[in-house]
Amino acid sequence: MKREKEQRNGNIGIMGGTFDPIHLGHLLAAEEAREQYYLERVIFVPSGNPPHKEEECLSHWEHRYMMTVIATITNRYFSVSRIELDSAPYHVNYTLDTVSKIKNIFGEDCRLFFITGADAILDLTTWKGYEDLLKMCEFIAVTRPGYSLTRLKKIFDSEHSELLSRIMILTIPGLAISSTEIRERVKQGKTIKYLTTSGVEQYILKNNLYGE
Ligand code: ATP
Ligand code: MG
Repeated sequence: MKREKEQRNGNIGIMGGTFDPIHLGHLLAAEEAREQYYLERVIFVPSGNPPHKEEECLSHWEHRYMMTVIATITNRYFSVSRIELDSAPYHVNYTLDTVSKIKNIFGEDCRLFFITGADAILDLTTWKGYEDLLKMCEFIAVTRPGYSLTRLKKIFDSEHSELLSRIMILTIPGLAISSTEIRERVKQGKTIKYLTTSGVEQYILKNNLYGE
């Protein structure tokens, strides 16, 4: 009981992604962030299917949502939001708007932490309204094999050091797993056991995702 009380501190993690499919890299990143930053919960936010050419190959959001629910169901601190799916799944959902909606739901007293991998944080300055976003929430950038965070300081030059102070780097055990590789393996008929949860593996096979 005591532990539960301590957890209700208003620290909320947000883990955005396409999750096509969700894998152990995502789950480990969220769990490490939860523990290190005393997050009372981590909300997974699957993205919609924006009509971008490069997004054409994305699996339908209902599949990606279902897999995210299946993968997170065994962690009492994890939940999945349909915030980017129910309103405008065919439009680009900007993280700025999503985080703003989550802030409105939980109130001004909550402290929001957006969790990303190293590759995503290096792209942050291309996100719409990233300066406002950094004021609204802090970032937990977890390490990811194949991506170095040494460029981060350079990206935020000295003029923007106050923005950089809103990004915390968290070193986690490296899992060189990507959704791209899982999709490729399924296509080639290779095993994906131990790269994602067995529930997600079963869901992929049952629904013939990522085949030819
Ligand atoms: P894809 O290969 O389709 O791009 P992905 O594995 O990169 O998929 P995303 O859904 O694009 O997964 O990523 C969601 C978030 O999770 C991003 O912030 C990404 O950096 C992070 N992430 C993904 N895989 C890992 C991993 N193995 N270790 C740490 N962070 C990860
Ligand atoms: Mg990715």
